[in-house]
Amino acid sequence: MTSRTPFDAVVRRRTVLGAHLVRLVLEVPGGFSSTGVPDEWVALTVPGQFQTRYYTVRSLLEGELTVDVVVHDHGLVTEWAQTDCVGDTVGLSAPKGSFELPEDAGWVVLAGDLTGLPALARIAESVGTLPVQIHAEVPDGAMPDYVAAPVRWHDAPSGTSDLAAVVRGLDWPEGPGYFWMAGESAQMREIRRHVRHELGWDNRHYDVMGYWSGSRGRQARQVDPGPIYARGRALGHSNDRIWADYDAAGEQA
Ligand SMILES: Cc1cc2nc3c(=O)[nH]c(=O)nc-3n(C[C@H](O)[C@H](O)[C@H](O)COP(=O)(O)OP(=O)(O)OC[C@H]3O[C@@H](n4cnc5c(N)ncnc54)[C@H](O)[C@@H]3O)c2cc1C
Repeated sequence: MTSRTPFDAVVRRRTVLGAHLVRLVLEVPGGFSSTGVPDEWVALTVPGQFQTRYYTVRSLLEGELTVDVVVHDHGLVTEWAQTDCVGDTVGLSAPKGSFELPEDAGWVVLAGDLTGLPALARIAESVGTLPVQIHAEVPDGAMPDYVAAPVRWHDAPSGTSDLAAVVRGLDWPEGPGYFWMAGESAQMREIRRHVRHELGWDNRHYDVMGYWSGSRGRQARQVDPGPIYARGRALGHSNDRIWADYDAAGEQA
């Protein structure tokens, strides 16, 4: 446990959901509570490590936190999650979230790769009667049971992403809405520029987040989004500005 991960949790169950996705169910202590924001995430510290990595709260129910971990080539959490980690104690931060539906939104469009899929699924459960369009990029084919809403599935081999091209090709619904997107950072930067400059949207109407970086062949996500997010909020910055600052910090790391 570190001050960045003030809660201890114990892995109670581990289920393989697919060739590149593992579900972990953690028993969390009293006092660990949800923000209610549907894309909320926690910082996770795995045994023997002090660095944190970020995982979406897929669900938090009766003291059990579910996170779905993408299995990729190498990395602290991905390698640990591929072992028999049931019984291990991990550190968790308090959750934080970013999704913020504007009052005038008449529709929701969601896009993400496999790392964004847990958030896509949870957001889809939370938007009530608003029409939702979902685009998910996956390495092992459609996962129809994972999301309780219709999804357009797009193939991309593990560790690659072409989600920006998918989003550039979208026919957007009429009127104001809300676009939420998460995945590989270079793809997200391209789409942030696209919605800001080419579509000219107000930043209340989109939230585009880099969840991992595939561009440099080295660990590129050592920047903690927590302090950047807290500082940006304290300064009254938009989510758009905060996530752009996070990407910029990642580039300099
Ligand atoms: C707010 C937020 C929420 C997130 N939610 C989730 C989630 O629910 N599930 C999830 O799996 N991830 C999620 N991520 C992404 C996850 O934090 C990163 O993928 C993280 O780098 C994984 O840590 P690691 O220890 O496995 O690999 P690291 O030690 O961080 O990285 C080792 C190497 O693997 C590369 N790499 C990292 N991630 C991937 C990947 N997905 N595919 C291919 N190569 C990769 C790195 O660039 C680096 O070269 C989220 C990120 C953020 C910021």
